[in-house]
Amino acid sequence: MDNWIKKQAAINPHRLAVDDGQTQYTFAQLADVVGKLAGKLTRIPTSKTGRIAIETTNSMAGYLMALAVLASGHTIVWLNSRLAFEELQRQLDDAQVAALLVSDELSVGQFSVPTYQFATIFAMPVRDSVMVPRFNDESVASIMYTSGTTGAPKGVLQTFKNHFSSAVASALNLGLTPTDEWLCTVPIFHISGFSIMMRGLIYGMAVRLVPSFDADKIHQILVTEPVTMISVVPYMLRRLLNVRETTQQAYNRQFRGMLLGGGPIDRPTLQRCTKLQLEVVQSYGMTETCSQIIALNNADADAEIGSVGKPLFLTELKLAVDGEVLLKTPALTPGYLNRPEALANKMVDGWYRTGDIGHFDQNDFLFIDGRKDDMIISGGENIFPNEVEAAYATFEGLSEIAVVKQFDPKWDQVPVAFYVAAKAIPEAKLIAYGRQHLAHYKVPKAFHQVEKLPVNAGGKVQRYKLMALLEQKPLDDG
Ligand code: ATP
Ligand code: MG
Repeated sequence: MDNWIKKQAAINPHRLAVDDGQTQYTFAQLADVVGKLAGKLTRIPTSKTGRIAIETTNSMAGYLMALAVLASGHTIVWLNSRLAFEELQRQLDDAQVAALLVSDELSVGQFSVPTYQFATIFAMPVRDSVMVPRFNDESVASIMYTSGTTGAPKGVLQTFKNHFSSAVASALNLGLTPTDEWLCTVPIFHISGFSIMMRGLIYGMAVRLVPSFDADKIHQILVTEPVTMISVVPYMLRRLLNVRETTQQAYNRQFRGMLLGGGPIDRPTLQRCTKLQLEVVQSYGMTETCSQIIALNNADADAEIGSVGKPLFLTELKLAVDGEVLLKTPALTPGYLNRPEALANKMVDGWYRTGDIGHFDQNDFLFIDGRKDDMIISGGENIFPNEVEAAYATFEGLSEIAVVKQFDPKWDQVPVAFYVAAKAIPEAKLIAYGRQHLAHYKVPKAFHQVEKLPVNAGGKVQRYKLMALLEQKPLDDG
């Protein structure tokens, strides 16, 4: 394929490519700025791997730097700025990067690889502009570590073809055109954010960068700027709904809707969206599939509340006997970095095993029940934490809850809960409430109050950390 930045500069030169609220670049300007920056990048040491790591927020500088890495023919290794030093060093070692580029507002660790702040690169004298002519289908554009919800993060290889397939399927579903503008506040070091950058280049669509999630500020942008789409994870949606319900300000006229993904969503939140006539496209995907591969459109949202929808174009899906979601898609990673066996272990007869359990309803809509690893088998009955958590979502005075399994001599496994609340809630009250809303075996046997739940950078609860806590906590210590 032609280099997408060059291609858009040729076909949509005057269209807006990116805007951070202060600076705007058209595609022609973008190609110029990125080409020069890529020229500067050729001055830093290279390595056989051709990989350059980036640690940044969703800033304009971070956006430009990432494109310059691609334009200079390198692979981006995305680092999550919220990780601890050792975790980052492990990923730098794993990816054998030539260099690390760090955004100016982040502190720079003493890593064992040549490290440059963005300002140092920007200040280099301009040499020739560099722009590789092609983005080869099978070349690895980016390496992204999974969010580590279930354990140690793994480096997922993402080729240009993977990104292209994902963007095309998403456009066919959402009907996007170069007149759209997508607000990107989900991190660009995760696929939710980077896929917005890739879609921008592939559709000729503008990307509105917002470095951090501040619900009031984002609400204002959605009201006053011509943004048409925004990607959100569940906690962002809930906070945006709070602002919208309080201010009663509608978003701008061009606004189409929200792409919601990353984790399960509860019914009350979806009902709040319906009440506001807010288009929310629910989606399901993973780092390994370069973002969403299944989506539920607004037209079906009411009838199919809680479903993640139907597979997008290019994705084939079926369920294994135990309900595990299996798929085939050109957006699927060719593998995990340095772990050739890891992808092979997840394949059966050419199908990728997602590790998630789901079911179809009578209209062939898919519902994700939860992760296979999180499933609690109590006295032979399956319990999915999501369902139990959703039942408690409306419990007065309880702000967050997570359910995990605990080993039990009688039932093999039982559900227990961790919750966040301003005041401790009597366990008997929580149990009584659960018995009104859930089958008795699904009601947690114990409730532990915690200050906050452990979450990864995407806002997902890390249940394995809670289970580690349980190992030190006997059941009767409620
Ligand atoms: P790791 O693989 O390191 O444990 P992770 O799987 O959380 O981390 P991601 O690739 O960011 O990393 O997340 C993909 C997973 O998120 C899916 O496999 C699924 O479990 C969950 N998920 C995504 N979208 C949805 C959704 N709409 N409903 C329920 N679960 C979802
Ligand atoms: Mg995963």
